[in-house]
Amino acid sequence: MKGIIVREPGGSDQLELTDLPIPTLSDGELLIKVETAAVNRTDIVTREGKSGYAKSAILGVEVAGIVEKTSETSHFKIGDRVMGLVNGGGYAEYAVMPANRALKIPDNLSFEEAAAIPEVFLTAYQTLYWIGKLKRHETVLIHAGASGVGTAAIQLAKQVSDAKVIVTAGSKKKLEFCKQLGADILINYKEQSFDEEVLQATDGEGVDVILDFIGASYWEKNLASIKKAGRWVLIGVLGGAVVEKVNLMELMAKYVQLSGTLLTPRSDEYKADLTKEFAEVVMPHLERGNIKPIIDTVFPIEEVATAHHYMEENRNIGKIILRQSL
Ligand code: NAP
Repeated sequence: MKGIIVREPGGSDQLELTDLPIPTLSDGELLIKVETAAVNRTDIVTREGKSGYAKSAILGVEVAGIVEKTSETSHFKIGDRVMGLVNGGGYAEYAVMPANRALKIPDNLSFEEAAAIPEVFLTAYQTLYWIGKLKRHETVLIHAGASGVGTAAIQLAKQVSDAKVIVTAGSKKKLEFCKQLGADILINYKEQSFDEEVLQATDGEGVDVILDFIGASYWEKNLASIKKAGRWVLIGVLGGAVVEKVNLMELMAKYVQLSGTLLTPRSDEYKADLTKEFAEVVMPHLERGNIKPIIDTVFPIEEVATAHHYMEENRNIGKIILRQSL
């Protein structure tokens, strides 16, 4: 089969489409003929040799495709359309997936749409509900609102929790898109001071939950934006990982709960449990169509370097998909 590997840690020019053996199946796994995969920031960090947790020489943490082979204990059958997280190996013609984290693709969704779901929706679900403990009608601040995870989080917060959703993004076009998804308050962080806008929108109280992809550069403004006893979930460091001069008293004085998480290096059991709850709570919304996968662009797998570059330039709204050649 063909698959994408990284020649040497570095830029997108290090990505190579090459001949590889079809992966072998262990008990509890499915062999999937991959139709589509999606690009994630974790792939870029792995490509750069910075993740430290890559489990496969082949990039890609999520796929959508057709079950080609099953192991004895799986309840899927050959020919089923499935999507889900893989332990690496998604940018290839075949990939193995633990059967307990495969989700059947609803009839109303294409393979492109299905590949846009697992990583960002499971991340958004995990951070909003398992870690952020978002409750009905609370207020949530979602940074990078037009990102893959951001577009998923806006929809979940509105459709599952009827929350008040405040988003930040770097352009009018991105903010308009967030509004269409249901965001209530739109803040252009390049033109406005987001903490001031948040306090104005919340009568000076701040938000219950912050979904923070940005980290260091937003530290002080996030601290100013969070309510007393708020939950602040750190899931990315696009604005830097090192915060200078932290005053821990400020966290204590606001009784803030600051949590961090990464999905890719979590255990198989954790991902299976998360997928199971997601199937029960969110899949019915995806089947009804009131929550939608958001696709920016579909690239043929041969153009993977362009796809990575496109994400690195912050151009996408929602997901970037890689399609296997017909
Ligand atoms: P994405 O679709 O590529 O979107 C990221 C967006 O963030 C960019 O388009 C850009 O939008 C904004 N941004 C980039 N640098 C910024 C900066 N310095 N300050 C402010 N905004 C900035 O990303 P994604 O795939 O949804 O992932 C979003 C983040 O979540 C990434 O950091 C990723 O690593 C993280 N993530 C974490 C987990 C986890 O388990 N912890 C899982 C999945 C993803 P603007 O034009 O609006 O600036």
